[in-house]
Amino acid sequence: MDENPLQIAQKQLEECAQIMNLDEGLVEYLKEPDRVMRVKVPVRMDDGDIKVFIGYRAQHCGVRGPYKGGIRYHPEVTMEETIALAMWMTWKCAVVDIPYGGGKGGIACNPKEMSRREIERLTRRYTTAILPIISPDQDIPAPDVYTNPEVMSWVMDTYSIFKGYSVPGIVTGKPVELGGSRGRISSTGRGVAIVAREAATRLGMRLSDARVVVQGFGNVGYHAAKILSEWGARIIAVSDSRGGIYQESGLNVEKVRDHKLETGSVLGFDGAREVSNEELLELECDILIPAALGGVITKKNADRINARIIAEGANGPTTPEADRIMDEKCELVIPDILANSGGVIVSYFEWVQDLNRYFWDEERVNAELEKIMIRSFNEVLKVKRELGKDATWRNAALSLALKRVVKAFELRGLWP
Ligand code: GLU
Repeated sequence: MDENPLQIAQKQLEECAQIMNLDEGLVEYLKEPDRVMRVKVPVRMDDGDIKVFIGYRAQHCGVRGPYKGGIRYHPEVTMEETIALAMWMTWKCAVVDIPYGGGKGGIACNPKEMSRREIERLTRRYTTAILPIISPDQDIPAPDVYTNPEVMSWVMDTYSIFKGYSVPGIVTGKPVELGGSRGRISSTGRGVAIVAREAATRLGMRLSDARVVVQGFGNVGYHAAKILSEWGARIIAVSDSRGGIYQESGLNVEKVRDHKLETGSVLGFDGAREVSNEELLELECDILIPAALGGVITKKNADRINARIIAEGANGPTTPEADRIMDEKCELVIPDILANSGGVIVSYFEWVQDLNRYFWDEERVNAELEKIMIRSFNEVLKVKRELGKDATWRNAALSLALKRVVKAFELRGLWP
């Protein structure tokens, strides 16, 4: 049986802890989340019926600061997955050195089959349920799979109503009009594009010669594709949950986006050949960006992946067995905790702006994002060099993150 995301996350931690010679008790401490809340979310559906959903908020490790992480609405959300995603947030915030711990929330539901009003009631009831454990100093949610700025507005409004005054810093990824940050929407994709560009430069590859394949055409995949194509790369294939399209001469990303907005999918785009999501991952290319869901690169298909660089836009797209194979096959693998950290980095800027009541222009946001992404990319590269061939790229990124988390833990000490 395939491993669940929590088993994968724990395995990654154990493997890395071994390389670093970490104390066993410390590893046990980091394998467990600080706190997990499981909540019942009853919703009055549009037809008058009551439907009960199950939601979670996991807080993995708070030694470096308040918990931070998105809220996911997806039918396959489970407690284990939410904990794994929270753990990855701890490493992600540490690898780019922003002062947060890891959190994540989710509700098992299918938002594609729900009306906007039903999603609003679901969001408000869920926010009310997790209210005792969130605050701008404690745990700050954000968007994740199938949640967006509108959902964040409802989180912010619900929390503010209970407080009796507006609390913009309770959530990030809000609309700019409510205290959101300029540049937040494109930030995860922009971060992916920045590290992909840096990796290409390291390999002596010109971006204008690079052929890019993107799995997933949501917020992350679309913006990564758009920005890379603006920088001269050729986007030869993209996909969404229904399947993919391939055009060797390069897709016009904006036109694909318009087509998806019109028809609901990238499929049927003029002049492109259709490919399945599995075939898409195996296309020969220079840069592969898995930016859909987790667990798509496994030991079953890793051997057939044909890319020089992988930049993981999604959280957890590669299983541990596949990691080893990818490390041998690809010249440079940029693991999720680094590659997709642009979102939480700009979330951090948003929170800072909210707390200061002073807002930045987009140039400043993008420039500061770029600075952190490049610095972190270079730091991971350095650790990878120090650890040598036996360590994977993921080991390198994770060990940098773990070092920072462990340092904070040691400085604080174990109470009592
Ligand atoms: N959901 C995003 C992630 O997985 C963003 C989290 C945030 O901004 O807090 O990194």
